[in-house]
Amino acid sequence: MTRALIIGGGVGGPVAAAALKRAGLEPVVYEAHPGPGEGLGAFLTLAPNGLAALRTVSMLERVRASASFPTTRVEFVNGSGRRLGLLGGEEHLPEELRSVTINRAALQRAVADSAADQGVGVEYGKRLARYTESDSGVVAEFTDGSTAEGAVLLGADGIHSTVRRALAPDGPHPSYTGLLGIGGYSPVPDTPPTPEATMRMVFGRRAFFGYQSAPSGETYWFANLGHSELTREEIAARDDAEWQEHALGLFRDDPPEITRIMRECAPSAFRPLGIYDLASLPHWYRGRAALLGDAAHAVSPASGQGASLAAEDALVLARCLRDINDVPEALAAYEWERRDRVERIVAEGRKRGARKAGSANPAALLVRDMTLRVVFGLTARFGSQGWIHDHRVDFEARATSPEGSPR
Ligand SMILES: Cc1cc2nc3c(=O)[nH]c(=O)nc-3n(C[C@H](O)[C@H](O)[C@H](O)COP(=O)(O)OP(=O)(O)OC[C@H]3O[C@@H](n4cnc5c(N)ncnc54)[C@H](O)[C@@H]3O)c2cc1C
Repeated sequence: MTRALIIGGGVGGPVAAAALKRAGLEPVVYEAHPGPGEGLGAFLTLAPNGLAALRTVSMLERVRASASFPTTRVEFVNGSGRRLGLLGGEEHLPEELRSVTINRAALQRAVADSAADQGVGVEYGKRLARYTESDSGVVAEFTDGSTAEGAVLLGADGIHSTVRRALAPDGPHPSYTGLLGIGGYSPVPDTPPTPEATMRMVFGRRAFFGYQSAPSGETYWFANLGHSELTREEIAARDDAEWQEHALGLFRDDPPEITRIMRECAPSAFRPLGIYDLASLPHWYRGRAALLGDAAHAVSPASGQGASLAAEDALVLARCLRDINDVPEALAAYEWERRDRVERIVAEGRKRGARKAGSANPAALLVRDMTLRVVFGLTARFGSQGWIHDHRVDFEARATSPEGSPR
């Protein structure tokens, strides 16, 4: 049986493991952290296309059971609280495929447990240091000195991927989007709840804020703050309370519930993370190693698609390795099938993210709000997000090695 070494037990790694197992391979997942749920960002939203991919590998039920609440609509307002648009309405979809918001740790646990139920465990505390390749296989070397051998190695190790650095050393690095991200959960019983299953997103005067009331009584919130790029050390140089004051100041002229929600949250939620994306690598595979998820193509969180695309990648990779015997050829077919779709979504996410930073110029804000009203109006009317959400990977369809596939 073909052994597949999967590096990274975040979202894409366990999904790939379950899909590869179905495809008749023998997958093993190696995760650097000592347990699930230690990634970036407090919570995320899973879109219908990602939920459909999870359904294919029998992970949907467990993931939905771990989700916090449905988020099937997004209402956009400006800094005065005036509505700019309302998107969503997923009534045409079966209930199980309607978008949900989930705590990141809960998602990682759900996919890891589900993979384990299907006979693939995640080995924690295994950080890949490097890998070497021969004609017949790959050897992964971990920082604890241990090694593992397989016929193929898949890098599901996130935006700062070690596998990517080895596979495409001269390739582009992730680009800073100009935004810092913060977010958390606030107990705010006296804030008017958001409408059912609706996340409200505020294009504020100086920064961007999103929030939704949870059935638990908490408010889930996040904010994106325009800022020059900072190193980890520069972020650490300010303490949590200073970051909290900075964020509160940026929203001082926006709807008052924003600062009310933020004041109720623990200061540790205000330590920001730089938000990066990765538009286009020269190649997603070399020889017997390939990348998936953020390692191959990190999309801005503004697209709400990163986790869903990682799950789609996982299915396509497994299908190609199932149906095409030659490993490099299978990896080429995978890249060929995925690249266009993913790069279009990365570009879309960048466009959305660019409008979030706000402006000191009231005329620029006016133009932004007018543009957004038109964009959201057209999107709602013509359903122009359908190509993202309605995509389904047909796992049963036979993969073929395409004419003119890259490399
Ligand atoms: C603030 C924020 C908000 C977001 N919101 C959304 C959203 O609403 N919807 C959405 O779909 N996406 C969202 N995303 C993006 C989403 O989180 C990612 O696209 C998704 O997690 C990618 O999954 P992945 O498996 O490729 O990588 P990850 O989930 O990052 O997992 C990578 C794993 O690899 C491990 N790893 C790293 N290096 C090594 C190594 N050398 N050896 C072994 N293991 C290693 C890491 O510890 C990690 O567990 C958001 C991201 C951020 C930062």
